[in-house]
Amino acid sequence: MITPVLPTYARAPLSFVEGSGPWLMTETGERYLDLGAGIAVTALGHANPRLVAALEAQARRLWHTSNLYEIPNQAKLAEMLVEATFADTMFFTNSGTEAVECAVKMARKHFSHNGQPERVEIICFEGSFHGRSSAGIAAAGSEKMVGGFGPVLPGFVHLPWGDHEGLKAAIGPKTAAIMVEPVQGEGGIRPMPEVCLKGLRDLCDAHGILMILDEVQCGMGRTGRLFAHEWAGIEPDIMAVAKGIGGGFPLGACLATEAAADGMGLGTHGSTYGGNPLACAVGISVVETMLEDGFLENVSRIAGRMRQGLESLVARFPEVFIGVRGSGLMLGLMCKAAVGDVVAAGYDAKVIVVPAADNVARVLPPLNITAEEVDEALLRLEAAARALQPETVGGDAV
Ligand SMILES: *Cc1c(COP(=O)(O)O)cnc(C)c1O
Repeated sequence: MITPVLPTYARAPLSFVEGSGPWLMTETGERYLDLGAGIAVTALGHANPRLVAALEAQARRLWHTSNLYEIPNQAKLAEMLVEATFADTMFFTNSGTEAVECAVKMARKHFSHNGQPERVEIICFEGSFHGRSSAGIAAAGSEKMVGGFGPVLPGFVHLPWGDHEGLKAAIGPKTAAIMVEPVQGEGGIRPMPEVCLKGLRDLCDAHGILMILDEVQCGMGRTGRLFAHEWAGIEPDIMAVAKGIGGGFPLGACLATEAAADGMGLGTHGSTYGGNPLACAVGISVVETMLEDGFLENVSRIAGRMRQGLESLVARFPEVFIGVRGSGLMLGLMCKAAVGDVVAAGYDAKVIVVPAADNVARVLPPLNITAEEVDEALLRLEAAARALQPETVGGDAV
């Protein structure tokens, strides 16, 4: 018999009832060190006092009014992000999928608005993940995503990751945009080299098409800059954001330049909940925190410690791990053992990592994790690795 909750998730037999910083507690009081952060969502840790205070204060005043009226928190959050990014404007959503959805609609509308309605195609990359809506799965394009859900929304072109020549050949009179994750998340923490992001930007400029970045997972401080593309010194035309921006409260946004957003006039798009007072109260606190002096520098510093520790694990447990890749605190442990076994051994050692494609275990801790907590996490990962490579006398550096 089918379960009351639609059985679409392969859930671990774990249930948490409380959280604090990078820690999660089960009903029976067991403490797990959370290096998954709800898939890069609780960027400031569980039950962050500042976010709790912001949410509580708003919850006592007003929960929801709809976008029929002005929402001061939404306007304030937008102003903060306009100030801090390439964007001139943004549309608020409840999720990353909806932010991508808005990006796709905006790109197509831009060209139809400017007399080029034939420009509808969006070039995407294999291994990408853009959410589970009809546009999101069409953008990802893999059989795993779209199988059985046809007809697949047309207008998406797929290229292998890193296929430069194929990319140039794929751009034509119907192309509207290139959409890419600067660091693929679900695809297995695959960073696009800075030079490639720059090349993509140049290509978009040369052909008059839009660059859409999906920074739903790699954005919001995760790589040590507010957004991952900043490392490459480029700016997109449109960018999808979610996950970390709400710190655990559902919130997303589609950011854009004024030029890219020129088709999105009155009545072209909407959302009942999008940018509601509760979500934006939390979003303001998240962005305020991340923009404080030293916050992002500390992400890079602590990420260095984490990465070094992970590299050491890779060297000492060659039967379990192959290598480390990623950027900042968006790290992937390429596994030799089955990633499912690594994740399960992690549970046994009371440390949480998140599986991704390409047999990668994701390490995505809260961005404010301390050096002591990183060291503890590494000890627990070492215990997990030792369980999978018992012949190693763990701790002996190679
Ligand atoms: C998680 C994710 C999405 C989808 O976000 P949801 O909030 O699950 O709808 C889209 N793109 C990327 C890169 C993601 O990591």
